[in-house]
Amino acid sequence: MLAVVPPPVTVRVPSKVNLHLDVGDVREDGYHELTTVFQALSLTDEVTVAVADEPGVEVHGEGATNVPANAKNLAWRAIDELARHVGRDPVKANIRVIIRKGIPVSGGMAGGSADAAAALVALSALWRLELGRDDLATIAGAIGSDVPFVLHGGTALGTGRGERLVPVLSRHTFHWVLAFDRRGLSTPRVFTELDRLRAEGDPPRVGAVEPVLEALASGEPRQLALLLGNDLQAAAVSLRPGLRRTLRAGVDAGALAGTVSGSGPTCAFLCEDADAALRVAAELSGAGVCRTVRVAHGPVPGARVIGGDDAP
Ligand code: ATP
Repeated sequence: MLAVVPPPVTVRVPSKVNLHLDVGDVREDGYHELTTVFQALSLTDEVTVAVADEPGVEVHGEGATNVPANAKNLAWRAIDELARHVGRDPVKANIRVIIRKGIPVSGGMAGGSADAAAALVALSALWRLELGRDDLATIAGAIGSDVPFVLHGGTALGTGRGERLVPVLSRHTFHWVLAFDRRGLSTPRVFTELDRLRAEGDPPRVGAVEPVLEALASGEPRQLALLLGNDLQAAAVSLRPGLRRTLRAGVDAGALAGTVSGSGPTCAFLCEDADAALRVAAELSGAGVCRTVRVAHGPVPGARVIGGDDAP
């Protein structure tokens, strides 16, 4: 009897920007206690999971040469984790993962986490697993701190390592310009640099999170712009001093405000509306302060199957 091979499943998954990132004390497990507000952005990766002749991973697109195409890839780790959860072997099942990257690698926008979240949704659709979003979120949290958020999407308040999420009311579509740097920054290195800066002095700390939640509920970009804040920014700028110039150039180009996204080095600029974002992007491209400029909007949904019979 011929085995029926299921058709490939493709999932689109957002990146994230942190509108507010409060880094607290180091915990016993070595992680810092975080309070953060995430927003999912329309800058996306696409991940296809298929049954193929050869199992494995392939990576194409933005920064692909800096991404491992082997078992270290976060998308493969997610495949492995989910397969173990249901007692199957992804190699024996000839699972192949094809990643098309739009999210910068080591850019502070959760690119690897996004691929992991997408792989979970795609494999679960390919194998028609009857898992709820909560089951997937639990597996996602075991893979990495940002994986549950990109699975979920929208706007959310994250606590713990960032993996405990509460959805946040956000009435408005916000328009962003993203400036990619020439090279990435390692997230652990940026946290270590923050610890060093704090041991030596008193780098700036973000204020309370409540006003950020109020600004999101009001939908006023000007109000939100005044409140963007990231405790990791000082550390990212200390490791990559050129970011100061990028942040200034975005505001000079007409953005309401700029912030380093997560651990950086991508800088995210909040703009008044879609037209303003296009103008800021054009001017920033000409300023020669970064490698690539993109426009994006948020909030957008989390990892979702696109096309085919499984589309929502
Ligand atoms: P975060 O914002 O969650 O701190 P990041 O966006 O700064 O993360 P990633 O792009 O997730 O960083 O990559 C971090 C590291 O993970 C890099 O060294 C990269 O080689 C590795 N990596 C493993 N799998 C992937 C993947 N699928 N996509 C991107 N990077 C991956």
